[in-house]
Amino acid sequence: MYFWHQPDFDKLRASRQGRHHALLLTGAPGIGKSAFARAWAGALLCERIDANGRACGHCSACTWFAQGNHPDFRTLIPEAIDPFHEPTGKGAKPARDIRIDQVRALAGFVSVGGHRGGSKVILVDPADSLNAASGNALLKTLEEPSGDTRFLLVSSRPDWLPATIRSRCAVVALRAPSTQQAVDWLVEEHGLSRTEATRLLAAAGGAPLRARDLAEPELGAAHRLVLEAIAKLPQASLIATAERLVGVESAQWVAILQTWVAELARVRSGAAPRFYPEQGARLETLARQTDLGRISELETRIRRLTRYAEHPLNPRLLCENALVDYCSLFETSGPR
Ligand SMILES: [Zn+2]
Repeated sequence: MYFWHQPDFDKLRASRQGRHHALLLTGAPGIGKSAFARAWAGALLCERIDANGRACGHCSACTWFAQGNHPDFRTLIPEAIDPFHEPTGKGAKPARDIRIDQVRALAGFVSVGGHRGGSKVILVDPADSLNAASGNALLKTLEEPSGDTRFLLVSSRPDWLPATIRSRCAVVALRAPSTQQAVDWLVEEHGLSRTEATRLLAAAGGAPLRARDLAEPELGAAHRLVLEAIAKLPQASLIATAERLVGVESAQWVAILQTWVAELARVRSGAAPRFYPEQGARLETLARQTDLGRISELETRIRRLTRYAEHPLNPRLLCENALVDYCSLFETSGPR
């Protein structure tokens, strides 16, 4: 768990909410929600929690947990992001959603008592990667929890979860660290200069884990390439721009486009850019060519797009359509 979440941890521990059988941990992406969930799970399983309610880190439960083989702990994680997933069939693509057979495989686990006589813990991360079938299957388990089974659901997009699942959970909103805390962390733990840390943190929308990723040369370069390509529109060729964007994952360029459009809205309403201050002049120029009404409509459409960006049927088409839509911001009204 990251140090900035210590107050959230203490508060949850002291509250009745903390004893709820299903917690839904929410908050912006890249602030460390998964680490918080694991720390909470570790504390539920630890057999000698310390005075602050944290796992001791030394007992046999803690040792198993750290090795990923505690008998009373299970995870529901999409194969595509599960570090322990071993591909089976040749050429089979790892799934990006949580599949129903993963949920069904929990049936035995949920129905028997814990091996160690304490809580059993199921981590669902990210919970918004449940699909309709697996969500439904999980709901049945949430509705009839047996024994001391505790669910930890993690999501940056809780509104994507079926209302039936959300309503079974106690929602815990985790805070992002302050800029100061995040910059200190990037400097001290990742060796960035203060200037670089501040710049990357802004580009990452204040999310320190994302900023850390952007500091990696490959990801940082991809981010810059996408940003620069988008910034050159609508003058640059749309086809050439799409060509560059489809080189990265759809979810990545959609996130950058979304942030860029949010910046346009800020600048259009007279505020200073927050994420891309180095593009301030360009944003000014573009913002003068459109209006807030059109920007806000586009923001709604892009938000919808983020859902499809995870599994695009045709990434190229998705990209071209999005760019045409974006460029329409700057069209002067009247007959085309
Ligand atoms: Zn322990």
